[in-house]
Amino acid sequence: SRWRPAARQTHDAEGRPSLRTTTAMNSSSTSADPARSFLSVDTARAAIMDSLSPLCGWEKVAVRAALGRVLRTDVIAPYNVPSHDNSAMDGYAIRAADLDAGTDTALAVVGTAYAGRPFSGIVGAGQAVRIMTGASIPQGADTIVVQEVVRRSDDRVFVPAGQKKGQNLRRAGEDLAEGGVALAAGRRCGPAELGLIASLGIAEVDVYRPLRVAFFSTGDEIASIGRPLCPGEVYDSNRYTLFGALSRLGCDLIDMGVIPDRPDALEAAFRDASEAADVIITSGGVSVGEADFIREMMARMGEVAFWKLAIKPGRPMAFGRIRNAVLFGLPGNPVAVMVTYFQFVQDALLKLMGVTPLPPAQRFAVQAAFSLRKQPGRTEYLRGRLQHDGSACSVALAGAQGSGVLSSMSEADCFVVLPDDCLSVQPGDTVYVQPFHGLL
Ligand code: AMP
Ligand code: MG
Repeated sequence: SRWRPAARQTHDAEGRPSLRTTTAMNSSSTSADPARSFLSVDTARAAIMDSLSPLCGWEKVAVRAALGRVLRTDVIAPYNVPSHDNSAMDGYAIRAADLDAGTDTALAVVGTAYAGRPFSGIVGAGQAVRIMTGASIPQGADTIVVQEVVRRSDDRVFVPAGQKKGQNLRRAGEDLAEGGVALAAGRRCGPAELGLIASLGIAEVDVYRPLRVAFFSTGDEIASIGRPLCPGEVYDSNRYTLFGALSRLGCDLIDMGVIPDRPDALEAAFRDASEAADVIITSGGVSVGEADFIREMMARMGEVAFWKLAIKPGRPMAFGRIRNAVLFGLPGNPVAVMVTYFQFVQDALLKLMGVTPLPPAQRFAVQAAFSLRKQPGRTEYLRGRLQHDGSACSVALAGAQGSGVLSSMSEADCFVVLPDDCLSVQPGDTVYVQPFHGLL
């Protein structure tokens, strides 16, 4: 699936993400203190998020096609949901005022109300109507008594004392009120949102157009799958992890393959990518020593900051703009790619896709089931596995923590986040985890 040069895209007119570069972006080399020349995770995240604003383009799609897409306009409830007061239980619709406070009350059963087939009469004094879940509350009745607590004898029902007026009713508009905002613009549609939209009888919604993301791997030693490795080569895995993460996000993907470490090849790749995509994601080639000619090229093509992040794994990263496209130049090591993608790129893409407000970072405090010493001044993301011992939740390490070790990434179900000031972890210490099911 190598990328072929595309005809000029029409989406320029729809607007592309805009990017304001901030001074924070270029602050990595300004301090005299070498320890301070590393940019903190939070500063880098904020600089990225602040510089981006959502796409302008949008389209109208059928409900099913809205899965994973972001609403561009509020979905307004055209009527109440539920549309009528109805029963939450199988039982009897009664008038609370008829009931004796101290003992059973006998009521005459005068009919049955089914879901979709209402009882058309009125419930008078001393009367009850058999009612099924979801059936409209008959006129006159104000309370539902569940069938499990009554005694039925022919056409009479004995209702025990102690019922509360209005119990077991679902009120019209209790889920969504007519004219109210059922789903606000900026909401990403998941299964619940599709159902909610359908519950309003709405067949189409306005969503932001998909984000176009071009991505490629760099490195003379990187080989694409499908041919044997030559000495010193490694197969490209970054393009596959990125493919997986970006596909889950619902982006339109432009897979540009592996680009060798040659200025002309890279320049052509960046030019093509910036013409075709809103966002360019690369891996490799941004570490000190490698980055020099890329740095120079990017200065010509756009505005890109090369950061040394206070993070492990994943220290080098580039961020900026090549022409109109936003660029994320991720490190080369396979786990560093995944860590920097999840900590910096994914929320940025969601913001470009129109998601507001962005969901808060999910972090849970659990007990460490491992020990570790750590350098201060950087945030470490360990690959962890959550475990439950009946009452408490703890986290163990998922295997070797090298920045190239994908097998432990695959074994892991969370990141353990060790903040800058953490020096060591002992078993039983409280640590924070980011479960993958919230990230992926
Ligand atoms: P770099 O940042 O380009 O120096 O790469 C750092 C390390 O990651 C090197 O060992 C590379 O071989 C490795 N690497 C870079 N890109 C990839 C890739 N696409 N797939 C697997 N390993 C990679
Ligand atoms: Mg490289």
